[in-house]
Amino acid sequence: MPLKGTDVVKKLPESGKKNCKECGFPTCFAFAMKLSSGGASLDRCPHLSPEVKAELLDALAPAIKLVTIGTGDSALQIGNEEVIYRHEKTFLHPPGVALLISDAEPESVAAEKIKKIDDLKFERIGLTLRANLLALRHESGGQSALAALAKKAHDGTKAALILISEDTDALFAAWDVCADRRPLLYPVTKDNIDRFIPKLKERPTPVGVRAGSTEELVPLTARLRQEKLDDLVLDPGSRNLTDGIRDQTLIRRAAIKQNFRYLGYPTIAFPCLMAKDPLEQMLAASAFIVKFASIVVLSDFDRHTLLPLLAQRLNIYTDPRMPLSVKEQVYELGEPNPESPVLITANWALTYFIVSSEVEGSKVPAYLCVKDTEGLGVLTGWAAGKFTGDAVAGFIKKSGLEQKVKTRTLLIPGIVARIRGDLEEALPGWKIVVGPREASEIPGFLPGFAAKLKQQA
Ligand code: SF4
Repeated sequence: MPLKGTDVVKKLPESGKKNCKECGFPTCFAFAMKLSSGGASLDRCPHLSPEVKAELLDALAPAIKLVTIGTGDSALQIGNEEVIYRHEKTFLHPPGVALLISDAEPESVAAEKIKKIDDLKFERIGLTLRANLLALRHESGGQSALAALAKKAHDGTKAALILISEDTDALFAAWDVCADRRPLLYPVTKDNIDRFIPKLKERPTPVGVRAGSTEELVPLTARLRQEKLDDLVLDPGSRNLTDGIRDQTLIRRAAIKQNFRYLGYPTIAFPCLMAKDPLEQMLAASAFIVKFASIVVLSDFDRHTLLPLLAQRLNIYTDPRMPLSVKEQVYELGEPNPESPVLITANWALTYFIVSSEVEGSKVPAYLCVKDTEGLGVLTGWAAGKFTGDAVAGFIKKSGLEQKVKTRTLLIPGIVARIRGDLEEALPGWKIVVGPREASEIPGFLPGFAAKLKQQA
């Protein structure tokens, strides 16, 4: 854990008793508390010596370094995790899923995989789920084959890249053709670290550090840190699931519990080297997503194997304290007109996506009003006082719907039929109709309801 406020204050001028207020805080103690929670920058105190400032910067840095691979919208950020168990707070940066391409594979296979990394994507509760990286592996033996593959990947996709070769010349040649994309170079080992250091100082990029065990990683990361190179991703060299989970757990615990800086980096795992069968690889990858890899590399995947992995990643890396929600507003489904039905629901993302897909499935253009219930569903929103007659009426009045629809008929979920009376009182001029209790009943209900509204208009 980064330093606590009570420890930070001891390092401030006059052991935290100067209290000159120049930082904008009433006391050194208040500033220290803000620093330790990441809410203020050390630069605000002009009285810190460079030595103390450097010491505090290091002590306040996250337990696991944030590392960025790739550039622009396709950049992958990993690390910066603050807890061991998700229920303690939340996991912050979802692991990257990488698709392996060997330079020994036929060109047509490589081209298909490069296309696949962009084409395989899934819409789920308003998010786009996809794999993130191409891992390009040098296996052919030809010096230029990896560079040629890197050029194809560079030109064919914006996805982040990992370059893999035991031959540093081949690796550096491939790096030359895609350096602008900030690839991850892998592996730095005890045998090639001296070749890497000057190159990385000249042209910084993240590197994967590989050793024969967790312990053997430490002298390598210590050396790189000494050289001020710390965009590192760790591979403890485990090549079966049991050892892999043990090593990932050791690294995470050392970083978070002991604040052991030399292992305070994101990690990479290679299910592609642990099993041949794609399903077994997926099972290993799903274990590593839970415990605690930052990148998982797979030899291949398709829609059926990738989607469950991405859904699992989404579930593990959502904040358990915050329900997923959508914005409060009136959503136009289809091309509604002044005679179209008006429905209302709550803004829990799952509720919204289920209700909207059932309305779309009914083929009836409609206005779907989504009331902010702070991410609660309809019934819990009502129980929490956020989906009451008065609250819904207030939203409808400010939504501008009165100018848009002639019918002024509001369809409420059957599960909260009890708000009808309050709503009629609070929303004069509107007719309130109790709709189906379940979203699945909407397609059977809505066409007939829309036809009646048309007749009345
Ligand atoms: S500027 Fe520095 S010395 Fe002054 S109150 Fe803030 S932390 Fe203390």
